[in-house]
Amino acid sequence: MTAKADHILLLAGTSEARQLAGTLAETFPESRLSASFAGAVRDLPDLGVPTRVGGFGGTKGLLAFMRHEGITVIVDATHPFAAQMSRNAAEAAKMLKVPLVRLERPCWHPGEADAWTNVLSMDDAAEALPDGARAFLAIGRKEIERFTHRNDIFGLVRMIEPPKTRLPSAWELILSRPPASADDEVSLFLEKNITHVVTKNSGGSRSYAKIEAARVLKLPVIMIARPELPEAETAPTNSALVDRLRQILARGS
Ligand code: NAP
Repeated sequence: MTAKADHILLLAGTSEARQLAGTLAETFPESRLSASFAGAVRDLPDLGVPTRVGGFGGTKGLLAFMRHEGITVIVDATHPFAAQMSRNAAEAAKMLKVPLVRLERPCWHPGEADAWTNVLSMDDAAEALPDGARAFLAIGRKEIERFTHRNDIFGLVRMIEPPKTRLPSAWELILSRPPASADDEVSLFLEKNITHVVTKNSGGSRSYAKIEAARVLKLPVIMIARPELPEAETAPTNSALVDRLRQILARGS
């Protein structure tokens, strides 16, 4: 009897997940691979593998999807702040006794010249801004509502899709992805007289330019710590994750 092929579910949403899709398809041609996006942004990249879009409907929905599709391995390559998805995935994997590996890119750490205030939540970040601050808020469209009561400050808000919450009238909204270059961030911060940078500790290189720009301009950074995630096997890089999957898939066959 031949063993049934593995079916890997790649929970996407990060630039690393984008690269992983191609790498996993190439490295494990015997396995099926399906990717999943939350669908919070409209211009989703083509991962080149079968992809579904939208929430599963909590752990229950994810379990039903996994059973229907015969998922045998989960790769959680969601954003470090996508804690609900990671929790659901860990729970479903445990219930179905399916291995799960989470890509956990390392946090950012301050350099010697950096002036960071580390906070545990969006609310704490909003409190940490002094009166009259001109804050660059790289927060996320759902979380921005934790800041909008601070109409004593100016907020320069950057996100990919417009927020559902109305921003204070004096604030400015930039709808774009982060630029790759710190010079672009420096120009923006100077143009808007930014005094503080507020950001999630996302890690990775994709949105690091704002941290470099804050360093160049000696701006204080309010750094929001990552949410706690459920215990799971983790890999810090794509290549470490692929190595681990190789072991898992070999063991299963
Ligand atoms: P979340 O709170 O973990 O997810 C909320 C719900 O969205 C999940 O419960 C799930 O819905 C659905 N979901 C999330 N990722 C999914 C995926 N890969 N495939 C299918 N469904 C998915 O995360 P979030 O609300 O999306 O984002 C929280 C923070 O992470 C924000 O700060 C955001 O800016 C940041 N972030 C998220 C992503 C992302 O792809 N999720 C990407 C970049 C940044 P069901 O419970 O219905 O299954």
